Amino acid sequence: MSCCDQPGLIPVEQALEKLLNAAQPITETETEMVAVGKALGRVLAADQQSTVDVPPADNSAMDGFAFNSVDCKESGQTTLPLSQRIPAGVAPQSLQPGTAARIFTGAEVPSGADTVIMQENCQWDSDQVILPAEPKAGDNVRPRGQDIQSGSIIMCRGHRIKPQDMGLLASVGIAEVPVYRRLKVAVLSTGDELVEPGSDLPPGHIYNSNRYTLAGLMEAQGFDYIDLGIVPDNFEATEQALRKAAALADCIVTSGGVSVGEEDHVKACVEKLGSLDLWRLAIKPGKPLAFGNVLGTPILGLPGNPAAVFVTCAIVARPFLLKTQGANDILPTPIQVIADFDRPKPAKRQEYLRAMLSLDENGVAHAQIAGNQSSGVLSTASVGNGFAVHSLNGTITAGEPVPFLLFSDVLY
Ligand code: AMP
Ligand code: MG
Repeated sequence: MSCCDQPGLIPVEQALEKLLNAAQPITETETEMVAVGKALGRVLAADQQSTVDVPPADNSAMDGFAFNSVDCKESGQTTLPLSQRIPAGVAPQSLQPGTAARIFTGAEVPSGADTVIMQENCQWDSDQVILPAEPKAGDNVRPRGQDIQSGSIIMCRGHRIKPQDMGLLASVGIAEVPVYRRLKVAVLSTGDELVEPGSDLPPGHIYNSNRYTLAGLMEAQGFDYIDLGIVPDNFEATEQALRKAAALADCIVTSGGVSVGEEDHVKACVEKLGSLDLWRLAIKPGKPLAFGNVLGTPILGLPGNPAAVFVTCAIVARPFLLKTQGANDILPTPIQVIADFDRPKPAKRQEYLRAMLSLDENGVAHAQIAGNQSSGVLSTASVGNGFAVHSLNGTITAGEPVPFLLFSDVLY
């Protein structure tokens, strides 16, 4: 794979491979127990095994009547006396042969019964029920262990806990789980031009937006985010800030100051305090991305342009940080959608186009460019819902498939 007129730029996939190989997950001793209700986004530190069947017993999927299918006539309706009433939450008695039980959704099916008929299909009074012809044996019974069998592994170490996982853990009676402690990520923004929102904007200045994009991204991953604010554009201040970050955090993420200008000090500082292992990616926006370590602490030096920060953090930094956090499932899966735009020139850098997904009248997904793709333009990231990927050396033709990464798969 050549990078045409951009020699030395590392393709994104290669850079990711290198980063993921370098990532050292925080060790297994650094775990803590958290209540399942507080475990959202945390990474499991041990496999979780069920000690119960879910459901624990056969139960009814309907409000209706439980009976044994052998008691039904070969043809025509069957009348059976009612011998018990079983609401949810009550342990039933075994069903007397030749009778039926009034039963409700979620209630345990009594032993001796194998079928439930929904009440809408029956006629009944307080003493007996008339069942319709030819009920199918086993209907409307949710068998014991249908969801989970006792002894099975329901979630593996390294799994990032999602809302449905919290429910699943609770369904087998697990109240708390071991998780890795939150990864400590120090974030700092470099730039003499930066001013914090909430204050006036003096001439020559801009508001610091990267700090907030990064804060959101770090919080969305569940990291313990250490905000080290703004660092001025000089070597001493940068060195001091990086030393502090290395002492406080497991990983450092910076924005700005990694390009080739004489006001860019991050790269030189990393070279002084540790090593620079990777610099300049074949990615657009975001070429000048630096990766290395500061006094042994990994650092991701992201570019300064707001859209470049967004893209490089989502595509490159996030998988590295998640792996360091101990997570398994870290690389997003692109979907194929139809491009509603052309990119006839082969991409010299892999471009992550802020794009919008919409459905046509046949329900087929199409991607449209969200607007201006300049690396300084953040608004198109806000209106878009994903990246249409213009692959390195490839082209995009309207009406043809294009890989698409949903923001929901690369930001959380
Ligand atoms: P740099 O890589 O430091 O040269 O920055 C590249 C561009 O991004 C410049 O236009 C900077 O003003 C802008 N920039 C850098 N840091 C930030 C930030 N924290 N918020 C908004 N824009 C920034
Ligand atoms: Mg700068």
